Amino acid sequence: MDTSYLLTHLGEEREDYYNAVIPPIMQSSNFAYNSLADFRSAILNELDNFVYSRGNNPTVAILRQKLAALEQAEDALVFGSGSAACAVAIISQLQAGDHLLSVQSPYSWTYKLISKLLSRFGISYDFIDASNLQEIEAAIRPNTKVLFLESPNSLTFELQDLAACAALAKKHGIRTICDNSYASPIYQNPIALGIDLVVHSATKYLNGHSDVVAGVVCGSKALIQKMFELDYMALGPAISPNDAWLLLRGLRTLPLRIQKSNEHAKKVVDYLAQHPKVDYVLYPGHPSHPQYELAQKQMSGFGGLFSVNFKAKRIEQMERFSEALMPTFLLAVSWGGFESLQVPTACFYNLGTAPPPPLPFSFVRYYVGLEDPDYIIDAFEKAFVHLED
Ligand SMILES: *Cc1c(COP(=O)(O)O)cnc(C)c1O
Repeated sequence: MDTSYLLTHLGEEREDYYNAVIPPIMQSSNFAYNSLADFRSAILNELDNFVYSRGNNPTVAILRQKLAALEQAEDALVFGSGSAACAVAIISQLQAGDHLLSVQSPYSWTYKLISKLLSRFGISYDFIDASNLQEIEAAIRPNTKVLFLESPNSLTFELQDLAACAALAKKHGIRTICDNSYASPIYQNPIALGIDLVVHSATKYLNGHSDVVAGVVCGSKALIQKMFELDYMALGPAISPNDAWLLLRGLRTLPLRIQKSNEHAKKVVDYLAQHPKVDYVLYPGHPSHPQYELAQKQMSGFGGLFSVNFKAKRIEQMERFSEALMPTFLLAVSWGGFESLQVPTACFYNLGTAPPPPLPFSFVRYYVGLEDPDYIIDAFEKAFVHLED
């Protein structure tokens, strides 16, 4: 389906709402029926009807259609957060006694879900280097039911060969789930490569304006229906109609925004990669990335997120350098919005409570938004004086 058509028209039954160009926010918790027969048939199929907004809602339903089509999936469920989407996708495929395989470094709360929460319910797991197919195959047990992938991840950008992982998992009757937040559906479509379920933090590129927390799971009608009937309805992670409406608004410009971020990040990464105070950059779209060829094979673009390790001897240097980049780079978590952001690993040092992270204090994750790349490079030029000895 043409992306322009789906972003602008798919799912928008304008005659149902006075031919308004923009759909209404259907801020209603429940929906009334005119006959028992109609009520009965709606209750029998809540996924495709409007009964109660914990399940389906007209504003959310438009979003579901668009997100499913973007990921080349048959259907989608929208959630109040990306973490809820990851959790429900994973939980829906597992029972006590099952075993799950996951990439080594998924998103932090996915890691905690698997290692701390699911283990309470008798689900065992292994975190593996999923860039290595032999390592995956060796870790498969008779009770392995899920292979969880995140390609690339959003901090150190390891990739998995999605087509090869999907084929291997199919051979062993294992479901594959891929967190596709980094690439967005514009730059990577895991379902087309054989993956069963795709999850996103819609908080990032899909909404893109840093004003909504949301998530989505895309997959076949059968998998989505089953997930809806028990996991989604029982756990209750629905998105509000108001947030769904904001997400629809953000989605209109998804291709424009991610293309700009991609273009700007490339320019900034090229500048940083040749700078004498840079140890290395990590960006799947840069030839120095260890899996550059795989990235070229399965992705069509890379967006604005990358990490840099600087040549800094003391943590105080990194503190001054990072503060000098403000406000060009706001000191804030998340990414995928209009604004450039930084998360210096130095923030996680000297916390007093937790042990220092496995990354050096000189490591920083950057997100480049929609600002002029020359404005961003100029901020780096000025900040680099703080890394001089
Ligand atoms: C942010 C993020 C999540 C969690 O999404 P929320 O919307 O913050 O709940 C999951 N996966 C990745 C890769 C993320 O970046």
